[in-house]
Amino acid sequence: MRDEDVTGPLTPGSGRMGSKDPAGISSHMSQYRGWTKAELHCHLDGAVRASTAEELATEQGLDLRRPLRLVAPEDCPSQAVYISYFDDAIAVLQTAAALERAAFELCLDSAAENIDYLEVRWAPRLHLRNGLTVAEVIASVLGGLAAGPLKAVAIVCAMRDHTVEDNVALAKEAGRFAGHGVVGFDLAGDEVLYPAAPQRPAFEAARAAGLRLTCHAGEAGEPSNVEEALALGVERIAHGAIGARDPRIVERLRSEGMVLDLCPTANWKCKAVANLSEHPLPALMRAGVRCTISTDSRTVADTTLSHEFELASQMGLSDHELKRCNEVAYEAKFG
Ligand SMILES: [Zn+2]
Repeated sequence: MRDEDVTGPLTPGSGRMGSKDPAGISSHMSQYRGWTKAELHCHLDGAVRASTAEELATEQGLDLRRPLRLVAPEDCPSQAVYISYFDDAIAVLQTAAALERAAFELCLDSAAENIDYLEVRWAPRLHLRNGLTVAEVIASVLGGLAAGPLKAVAIVCAMRDHTVEDNVALAKEAGRFAGHGVVGFDLAGDEVLYPAAPQRPAFEAARAAGLRLTCHAGEAGEPSNVEEALALGVERIAHGAIGARDPRIVERLRSEGMVLDLCPTANWKCKAVANLSEHPLPALMRAGVRCTISTDSRTVADTTLSHEFELASQMGLSDHELKRCNEVAYEAKFG
C-alpha cells in the first residue's frame, strides 16, 4: 500500500474523540503505539481531555456553550479558525489546580502510547484572567509535568499578537525556570496577521536567560515566514510545512540542519496543505531535511502521536523513515 498513490481522501480522525475513522486506522491498533517515542510539539491547551474540560467548566460555573468547542472540524478553513478551538480550553485553565491537572493528564495520555519524552508548550499570558501571575502559571504546569510517568519539560510560548514588551517580560520570567523544567521559548499565534520579526527582542531575552529557541512558522501565510523564523536564531521550527513550497528554502533548511516539528493532521486542518496526500513530510525527509512528527494538539486535531505516525506511513514514509523521524526528535530535544 505504501508505494501506492494516496491522492484519495486520506483523512485524519483517530476515533479518539468518537469521530468517524474513514481511513480505517485506529491508533489503538497501531503498531506505532508500541514504539518508544519522543514528542516535541504538543500544546497543553490543545490537548486537554474533553471530559476534563467539561468537568472544569461545570466546577468553575463558567458561562460557556456546552458541549465545549474543543475539536476543530475536518473542514476547518484556516489556521485562524483552528486556533479558535483552543479558546474554551484556555477558559477552563485559569486556576493553578486546573493547569496542574491538565499537564498531569497529558503526561498520562502520552505515556499510555509509549511516549517517554514530551515537550509541552503553552502561552502563560493567556492564563492570567483569574489573577494568576506568569510565574504561578508556569509553576502549576511544571508541577503537573513533574508528577507524570515520563520525562516532560516545558516550552513557554509568546503570542504573535502580544506586544514585544510583554513578550520580553515573559521571556525573562520563563528564564527564571531555566534548568527547572522550562527548556525552550516559542512564538505562536496567527501567522497571517502578525509577523515574527518584531518579536526579536523577546527571543534575545529568552536566549540570554538560558532557554533554547523555536518558533511557529510555515503553518499559514507565505514560505518566507519560515526564513523570518530562521533569522531569529531558532534551532527548530514548529511546522515549517509551507516552506516546502520553495526549493531554495528547503535547501537552506537542509544545509543548516534545521529541524521541523511537523504535525500532519494539524497542518491539514490549518490548510498548510490542501490534503494529507500533499503533505511535504516525505519530500522534505528525502531532500535531507531533519523532520520530527508530533500531534500539535491531541484534542483540537483529534489525534494521537501513534495515529500521526500511521498517517505518515500512509503518506509514503517507510518504517525506516519513521524511525529516523523519531531519532531526530531524541537528537533535537531541548531537555
Ligand atoms: Zn503548534
